[in-house]
Amino acid sequence: MAKGASPSGLFDLTGQVALVTGSTQGIGLALAEGLARNGAAVALNGRNAAQVERTVDDFKNRGACVVGMPFDVTDKNQALSQIGRIEQDLGPITILVNNAGISRRGPFDEQSDEDWTSVLTTNVDGVRNVSAPILQSMARRNRGKIINVCSLSSERARPEIAAYAATKGALKMLTRALAVEFARHNIQINGLAPGYIKTALNSSLASDAEFDRWVVGRTPAGRWGSPEDLVGTALFLASGASDFVTGQIIYVDGGILAAL
Ligand code: NDP
Repeated sequence: MAKGASPSGLFDLTGQVALVTGSTQGIGLALAEGLARNGAAVALNGRNAAQVERTVDDFKNRGACVVGMPFDVTDKNQALSQIGRIEQDLGPITILVNNAGISRRGPFDEQSDEDWTSVLTTNVDGVRNVSAPILQSMARRNRGKIINVCSLSSERARPEIAAYAATKGALKMLTRALAVEFARHNIQINGLAPGYIKTALNSSLASDAEFDRWVVGRTPAGRWGSPEDLVGTALFLASGASDFVTGQIIYVDGGILAAL
């Protein structure tokens, strides 16, 4: 059936090979599941090799086509050699989801060099380390999709997340810059920016009654998001449905950014 002939065909990922960084839990895990359910072969990633293996087993038990690729996105050489392995095992990567990300909260003027650097290297250098070699290979084949997991912090700030906000603002502009640079190679590069989603990353915030009340009150939808709330947008950005969409940041936030 020709692409777009039916609504399901438009989002079909059969024959696609996806790498989702940081996909052993939280948002990355839900996005990897969504891509696999729609037919993609998926490479699962995280720094903890045992956790990657457990996640692979879980996917395989449910019939998905997956491989485990444990590596640290901040390690350029490790990323390069593992990307080579993925392409050998599954075929050329056609979808990259740059999801791995961390946050270290604290007052800007008291933050340790180590915390500051770890957030910047993971959230920005990590995206470069993984994207550059994959973009070269996508450009050679004249086809590809990259989804960068941005944040409300790409647009707005709160106290004590300066490093995180700096990286997510940078990721928004990196998304646009790469979209412009690689559009001529038929590669679409977009941002998926979640609102407040309950995951391990913000478990301390979710369990803080005052913060929980603030999120629920501030979000027009009146609730936290779940990782599954992001899957539909990811499928859109990963599939032929978005072939003329590039350089966009789509906020999946229950309406927060639209509200005063
Ligand atoms: P989690 O902490 O739940 O999961 C992070 C995942 O990334 C884990 O699988 C972790 O595995 C992996 N990871 C972390 N560092 C690295 C690294 N250096 N190399 C490879 N893998 C790594 O986070 P979330 O699911 O909440 O967040 C995912 C993304 O979504 C992040 O980019 C975050 O900024 C963004 N986001 C999250 C929001 C939320 O409300 N939760 C809101 C907006 C954006 P391991 O530790 O084993 O390496």
